[in-house]
Parts: sequence; C-alpha cells; structure tokens
Amino acid sequence: MKRFCYIGILILLGCIEERTMQQAIDPGAFIQSVRLDFADDTNNKYAVSQSSSYNFKLKMLDNQDIPVRINNYKLFIGNKEYTSDHRDILIDESGTLSVRVEAYGHTSNTLEIISRENIIYQEQQVPVVFHLISNSNIHHSAILREVNNLNKQFDNTYKNRNKGLNAVNVGLQFYAVTMGPEGNILEYPGVNIINGDYPEGLEPHSFKFDSVMFAKMWDPDLYLNIMVADLSGSSYAYYPDLNSIPGDSLHNPYALFIDISHLDSYVISHEMGHALGLPHSFGQTCKDMDHRLRDIQHYINEPMNVDGNFRNGCTDERFLSTNYMDYNTGYHNTFTYDQREVMQNTFFKARHFPNGINKPINGRSSGKWRGKLDPTIRPIVCSFAIDN
Ligand SMILES: [Zn+2]
Repeated sequence: MKRFCYIGILILLGCIEERTMQQAIDPGAFIQSVRLDFADDTNNKYAVSQSSSYNFKLKMLDNQDIPVRINNYKLFIGNKEYTSDHRDILIDESGTLSVRVEAYGHTSNTLEIISRENIIYQEQQVPVVFHLISNSNIHHSAILREVNNLNKQFDNTYKNRNKGLNAVNVGLQFYAVTMGPEGNILEYPGVNIINGDYPEGLEPHSFKFDSVMFAKMWDPDLYLNIMVADLSGSSYAYYPDLNSIPGDSLHNPYALFIDISHLDSYVISHEMGHALGLPHSFGQTCKDMDHRLRDIQHYINEPMNVDGNFRNGCTDERFLSTNYMDYNTGYHNTFTYDQREVMQNTFFKARHFPNGINKPINGRSSGKWRGKLDPTIRPIVCSFAIDN
C-alpha cells in the first residue's frame, strides 16, 4: 500500500513538473474556454458612436476552470480588431456590433452592442424663474450659480469622471429671466421673492398647499417655475402635459418644487428631468420600467440592490450608477441618449411649456392659462439621500 502511494506521489509530481514546464513554454496551450463580459462600470449594451468607451471582462480558463493568464489575444468589435487590448475601447462605428475574443484557436461567447449615431440638436433656450418663498432664506447669488450648473449638467460638461456610456448633450439650456409677468424688471435675474403668505401648517404637495403654489406661479407658457420653500425635506415635480390641445388651460401646478435643504445642482436637474417627462431609473418592481428608455438600467430600490456606486439591476447585471434620475450614492452626471429623446419631445410638444411656441401672441400673459386644479393629477415626490 505504501509503495503505491509513493508511486502515486511520484506520478503527481511528474505531472506538476511537466505542466509547469509547458506553462513556461506556452500558457495558451492550457486554455479550454474564453469568456467575455462587459465590465461592471460599462455594463450596458447601448452605446453612442464616437463617444462610448467600454471596458470588458476577459476570462480564459483551463480544463479545471482555473484562470490562465495570457497576453496574446484578439478582440473583435464590428469591423474593428484590437490586439491584446480590452480596456477603454472607444466605439466608433454605429449599428448592431458583435463583440468576441479569439485566443489560441478558441473563440469566446459573443456580446452585442447597439451603437447609435450621435445627434447634435440645435440648442434650445428655456426661461426659468426661482420663486423664493417666505422663509426660504436663500441668497439670490445662489440662483445664478444653480442655473450655471444646470446648464453644464444638460450640455454634458458637468463632472466628467465616470460618465455613463450613453451620456449626451441634451440640447436644452436655461436662462434666468430678467422680466416679470407684468413687464417689470426683476431686481435679481431669475429671482422672485415671495414674502409673507407662506402656507404654514399645510403639508407640502397636499392639494391645499399646491393650490396656494398654483396661485403664485407665473404663466408656464413664458416661464419654467421653480418654487423653493421649506417642504419638510421632500422635493417634487409634475410631469408635463402632452395631451391637451392649444387653448386648454392648465389643471396642475406644473413646476419644480425644491426643498430649501435640497437647493443642489443634482436635485434641480433630477426634478427638471421629471418636469421634462423622465421617470426614475428604479422602481417598485422590474415590470414598471419605461420601455422608451432602452439605455437606462433599471433596478428595484432596496438596500440589497445598492452597493456604493453600483446597483444590482433587473436582469441580474451589476452596473455603475451615473444617472440624474437615480437616488442613493452615485455619480449623478448623466442624461442618456434615450432620455434626451423624451426631453426634446417634451420641449416641443408639451402644452404650457415655455418653448417659444406656446408663447402668448404679444408675449404678455393673459392669465387664461390657469384652469381649475385637478386633485387627481399628482406629482412625483422624491426622497433624496443627499451625499454629493
Ligand atoms: Zn424623483
């Protein structure tokens, strides 16, 4: 029995030695399979041509599924070929591109990238007014800073590290108005200070509270209204009205409502996204995702799906959170290609949006825009954990 063991050990040592020698000569000879995946930080099959740069995960395994390290392989993306390179690869073709790796006669699984030609939209200007309500205690200089940041966020020049793959210039810019609805010159651009009659004791986004706000708003055909007040920590916004016809009046306080503790570039952009028709990038269930937004990865907002800047998505994928329409920790620096399509559509099609098309004929408000409030139209109320 002892003798067999010695023989066994000798054979085993012989095998290890032989294998070590072979590996020293050519480790590629041990490869049995090649596995290719998107890296977590660029885990999205949608891309924008000339803009998206991918990282891939490459795994070459031997017959015992042990990774083999080799540096000699070819990566194929569409018609392009890359030698021994799989990090920071710029996609410069458009169309449906297949991606695979070849190494030592083995071919990996195939990934698909749907690369869209970028579109440069003509820049549209949106007039904004911040109504600083009663106890908001915000200095007017903060407003111009926020408008400036908002513009950087919408033209994709804000926080350039770790952008989403499909980050684009939305083509919308905002400017602080200099004139009030009566033709009066504002003391500070973009600022209307409302003192005295703040609806104390009313719950924010209750029907009564919003009725008071509705009365304070300026003509939404001429101004995008941003109400800044103590809203007990909840900021919110109403979706645009895309269904009524010209001449119909407005039945909800179509505005952004920003809590004083949230006067922050990310929150304003997030609420602006809602006002321009964007939902959250997460939901209560995986079924309620918006199918127009193909390049948004959706997840259920529960602690188990949030891991620092990463999320566990609805199709079991792990991805980096970069979108303005997300909550929780994340980079908050990206509006995507598909989100831009929704926002551009809102700009041109929404009733009661200050796009220059809905503008009253003489440029002055008639006051006829204000209809009867419909209590069934509810805002999107947001619960931020501000951490940036
Ligand atoms: Zn929200």
